[in-house]
Amino acid sequence: MKICSTIAEARAACLDARAGRRRLGLVPTMGALHEGHLSLVRAAEAQCDAVAVSIFVNPTQFGPAEDLSKYPRQFERDCRLLEKEGVDILFAPPVEEIYPDGLVTWVLVESLSEKLDGRSRPGHFRGVTTIVAKLFHIIEPEAAFFGQKDAAQLAVIRRMVRDLNFPVEIVACPIVREPDGLAMSSRNAYLNREERSRALVLQRSLQKARQQFHDGEKSAAKLISAAKEVFASEPQVVLDYFEMVDPDTLDPVERISRRTLVAVAAHVGSTRLIDNLVLNP
Ligand code: AMP
Repeated sequence: MKICSTIAEARAACLDARAGRRRLGLVPTMGALHEGHLSLVRAAEAQCDAVAVSIFVNPTQFGPAEDLSKYPRQFERDCRLLEKEGVDILFAPPVEEIYPDGLVTWVLVESLSEKLDGRSRPGHFRGVTTIVAKLFHIIEPEAAFFGQKDAAQLAVIRRMVRDLNFPVEIVACPIVREPDGLAMSSRNAYLNREERSRALVLQRSLQKARQQFHDGEKSAAKLISAAKEVFASEPQVVLDYFEMVDPDTLDPVERISRRTLVAVAAHVGSTRLIDNLVLNP
């Protein structure tokens, strides 16, 4: 695996990897890798001839009161995991390489960026789309792999790719969960034992909505209110949002008559967790 820390090195390595019209896949991450990330790497390996992974804890997608400084960093362990998966290129630049002094250009997907996590985390998606656009320009992948776990992020990135004509196929990969159903996340490492068990309420609320939907309830308001009741069993978990939206526009739906994204975010102690599922009538 070629490890690149500068844009010039990464460009040269990716040019080599794409030689002879080989298809290059990109998996963007913030490191502290778990099976969720590795599932994206495996999907990329299966669909591409060469795979590049990026590890970059992107400061512009963190708000001033968020966990940028304490975000888990485990570079050596991540390298070993990626090496074992047969990854060709690892791009892990320092912050100054990506954001030299005086950056004033941003990529902003209007409207979508203010929905779901964008409402609770102002500026978050502007940071995400800016770093992903930069990575697409540096790596020039034919395909890029993202987790359905971050469903709003996926919608925002798909829209950016469509609106700005990036020649990149966006591939969505299913959510990887712990055996008890908790969605894997680098932030799960923040949870103590009690919080870890309380965190299951996100999954329980989604299951409740799914079950009532399968029992015939099609009103989003009723499904949301049933799901919110589940949070009463965990008063220490503070709900941020529980919404039913169109998976592409992120606009709320009233009745579930086509594919609908059911998304939840909540604070478990000081850790903000998200989860979701898709209802398919
Ligand atoms: P992150 O390092 O948290 O920025 O995540 C990098 C990529 O991994 C994103 O596309 C995430 O959606 C994806 N990802 C994170 N957790 C999971 C998971 N549990 N299952 C599937 N994909 C995931």
